[in-house]
Amino acid sequence: MHLLPRFDYYEPRDVAEACKLLSQFKASAKVIAGGTDILVNMKKGLIAPEYLVGIGKIPGISEIEPVDGGVSIGSNLIIEKLVEFDLIKKKFAMLSKAASVLGSPLVRNRATIGGNIVNARPAADLPPALIAMGARVKLKSRRQEREISLDRFFKGPGVTVIRPGEVLTQIVIDGPPPFTGGDYIKLMHRRSLEIAIVAVASRITLDGPDGIVTDAKIILSSVAPRAVHAVRAEKALIGEKPTEKLFEHAAKIASNECRPIDDIRGSARYRCDMVEVLAKRTLRGAFVEAREQ
Ligand SMILES: Cc1cc2nc3c(=O)[nH]c(=O)nc-3n(C[C@H](O)[C@H](O)[C@H](O)COP(=O)(O)OP(=O)(O)OC[C@H]3O[C@@H](n4cnc5c(N)ncnc54)[C@H](O)[C@@H]3O)c2cc1C
Repeated sequence: MHLLPRFDYYEPRDVAEACKLLSQFKASAKVIAGGTDILVNMKKGLIAPEYLVGIGKIPGISEIEPVDGGVSIGSNLIIEKLVEFDLIKKKFAMLSKAASVLGSPLVRNRATIGGNIVNARPAADLPPALIAMGARVKLKSRRQEREISLDRFFKGPGVTVIRPGEVLTQIVIDGPPPFTGGDYIKLMHRRSLEIAIVAVASRITLDGPDGIVTDAKIILSSVAPRAVHAVRAEKALIGEKPTEKLFEHAAKIASNECRPIDDIRGSARYRCDMVEVLAKRTLRGAFVEAREQ
């Protein structure tokens, strides 16, 4: 680790001013939110932006607001709030669970949801749960605002569709349909301060408490350059009566669908085996929650 490289720090008062600064300084500027990722990378000498644009003082981007049965979450919201906030715990429990296993209390009280999305780490904790819930992100620049599905946001490790001059302002999640449940499980070597060896987020919707599966999402994390759908496993669930056997079948398909790499945290074979275990467990958890809704 080195000392931080030299940079100029700006603290805009609104999103428009932040966008103006970013478009003025172009590639030599970066947004800083909680700083738990960017400052580490700067200290390691991996990046050296000349300008940092702090978004911490901008009003209106650090709140959780109910919208039409769903929720709009400000990008600058600290992750601990996702763990504590009643609306998220009750209606979007999978997101709350994913937030609760991110880093440590110290990290969760600084790190933001926007930073966890934009850093685009293949093992980041919030994107799998957010993708499973069909979340969209609002991106604002000087000239326009666009909203895109998180499914289309990530391109690869550290790479997203965000353009220079754009700020992620809000994350929008629609209210879940009736009889919908989800679960997120992260496999780690220890209980905290660890990124996932493998993680799975599953969500299913039933057409009644004893009905068939009408929608299914299984998102695999840490097995590809970005969080990915287990597409064939999702298809295998739809139209079927949820049973233990069906979940085992879908989990096996998910395990065959993933193409992880070997690395210091786990071999590819181990990761595939764990995908099967976690997919089965998260589907069970999603089913229990779906029946209770
Ligand atoms: C000890 C430690 C443990 C960690 N453990 C985990 C873990 O278990 N799971 C996990 O997923 N992550 C973990 N992280 C990584 C990091 O804490 C999270 O990814 C965090 O959510 C990043 O948020 P931040 O607000 O600190 O982002 P920052 O560091 O401020 O920014 C990260 C990136 O996003 C960009 N950015 C931030 N906000 C915006 C915005 N609104 N618009 C446009 N660009 C933006 C920045 O320019 C930068 O490129 C850990 C980090 C540390 C230091």
